[in-house]
Amino acid sequence: MDSLVNECDVVVIGAGLSGLSAAYYLHKKDKGLRIIVLEAKDRIGGRTLTRQLAAADGTKDFWDLGGEWAGRPQPHLQYLLRKFNLNTFNPVRPHDGRQLSDLTTLTLQTRCDLIQFTWKLKSLQRKLTGVDLKMSVNALEYDNCSFDKYKEENLWTQTAKTIVDSACKCMFGLEPSEMSLLYFLMYVKAAGGLEIFLHPKEFTGSECRIKGGVQQLSSHLVQKIGKKCVYLSQPVSHIVQSIEGARVITTNNVQVLCQRIILAIPPHHIAAINYSPPLAPAKLGLFQSVPLAFIVKFAVTYEEAFWKKDNDRHHYGFQAVLDNDEGPVGIVYDASSGRGNPALAGFISSFQGLDSDPKNRRATIMRLIEKLLGPECQKILEFSQMDWSKEPYNGGCFLRSIVPGATKYFNNELREPFDRIHFAGTETATVWCGFMNGAIQSGFRAATEVLYHLRPLIITSPDLEVLHLPDDAQETPQVKQNWLTWAAVGMGFASAVYFLTKTNTVSSSTTFVKNIRLVFDGR
Ligand SMILES: Cc1cc2nc3c(=O)[nH]c(=O)nc-3n(C[C@H](O)[C@H](O)[C@H](O)COP(=O)(O)OP(=O)(O)OC[C@H]3O[C@@H](n4cnc5c(N)ncnc54)[C@H](O)[C@@H]3O)c2cc1C
Repeated sequence: MDSLVNECDVVVIGAGLSGLSAAYYLHKKDKGLRIIVLEAKDRIGGRTLTRQLAAADGTKDFWDLGGEWAGRPQPHLQYLLRKFNLNTFNPVRPHDGRQLSDLTTLTLQTRCDLIQFTWKLKSLQRKLTGVDLKMSVNALEYDNCSFDKYKEENLWTQTAKTIVDSACKCMFGLEPSEMSLLYFLMYVKAAGGLEIFLHPKEFTGSECRIKGGVQQLSSHLVQKIGKKCVYLSQPVSHIVQSIEGARVITTNNVQVLCQRIILAIPPHHIAAINYSPPLAPAKLGLFQSVPLAFIVKFAVTYEEAFWKKDNDRHHYGFQAVLDNDEGPVGIVYDASSGRGNPALAGFISSFQGLDSDPKNRRATIMRLIEKLLGPECQKILEFSQMDWSKEPYNGGCFLRSIVPGATKYFNNELREPFDRIHFAGTETATVWCGFMNGAIQSGFRAATEVLYHLRPLIITSPDLEVLHLPDDAQETPQVKQNWLTWAAVGMGFASAVYFLTKTNTVSSSTTFVKNIRLVFDGR
């Protein structure tokens, strides 16, 4: 791309799933639209990242170090998977899988304490269903109360409090004092309720994985949009808007003139861009009020699945909590590939003693696995890790938390366009926000907003192909109260960030239709 001035109709900023989905949708609706995607990094995919590692069958196989789990209730993700003929596999047979932790090892008093606490949270959650958060007295109250305060006031036993603290660190990479009660409740709700945090089962967002890795989604999207429209290593630093149009400027001094912009990047990176005229202080403050969370994901490949030896059935879909001396710090699970190559994968979160040097960190992770599975785990083929808190232009993910007092504004404000700028990104999604599905849905929604301004005539009838979403998008809820399980598995596959306006499973397709109607018909 010229470092001089270029021109197009729409600039999409960010080549993660949301930005690429937005560009794909625009391109699909009108092939004549001139679209430019500007990506800061030298790769596409954002918070999805598939790596090739040495596998037992002598080849290199694929493992995901970012977004990984998918499920039938995620309509937009399913839509793209079908569109691109990408196959999924379900690594866990129904009712298999080992419990992550055993509440029976706790005293009766602690167990009762945790159970009553879970009930209380559920009842709070019910009070928020279908309310406008900004107008709700309950929401206001929950937003001004830190989760830590609520925990201290509603748990009696020290052990239960310690468990909840650890669970919080595992789930969010944050201390309970760093998030509001409202944010916590919305997060759980966005993942479909407490039950989603249980081990992988059918009809959740974590029932299957994508054969060959998630990265394929982004590659297919780029293929459809056209490789020549996607520019890597172009961090956007300035956006100037005027009556005639907008000018997007990157740190390499590339300039693009356009009519509309879709910002498909994480909130705190939105705040880092310079705007002229400036972003409204309230909106800027909102973007800045999303702190970083710490997460390291790892994958280890093996010649043999030694963890399956003693009892195949119970180790199939194996998951367990990784403990250090102070309690749970992460999880590990059976990540054998779609081709049957054995592997373990997992997360470490919010662990003070974890060295930032990758070599030392690898040793620590392997020590934690050894504590659980014995010395056999050291006979590895290949080890790979990704510290998402160090990843430029993503920051600490997979999820982001909102500081107390800001959650109630997150609803519509985040999505509200700023003149010619439209906002995508999983955090702005109304369906499975925080997940890959949310990223895709937000991209489609932002694209329809742009079309409304640039090509109003072609959006008068809904795009049937996109609206034809799977009928089987349903969840079969099961309710259990296992805090540790809930917390630890939550790290693995539930990265919902913000429950915005709708419930997100059964009604996914309806919500999508409603969104499009909102854009098209204003109702
Ligand atoms: C470890 C981990 C595990 C996860 N597990 C799951 C899972 O199992 N299931 C699931 O559904 N989801 C999971 N997720 C979440 C899922 O990956 C994300 O929700 C989704 O990928 C977010 O997509 P996005 O497009 O909204 O944002 P991103 O992927 O963050 O894309 C934003 C892009 O914008 C670029 N960018 C930022 N700033 C600029 C700038 N100034 N100029 C230009 N470009 C810029 C970034 O480089 C990035 O490529 C996981 C995430 C992580 C990290």
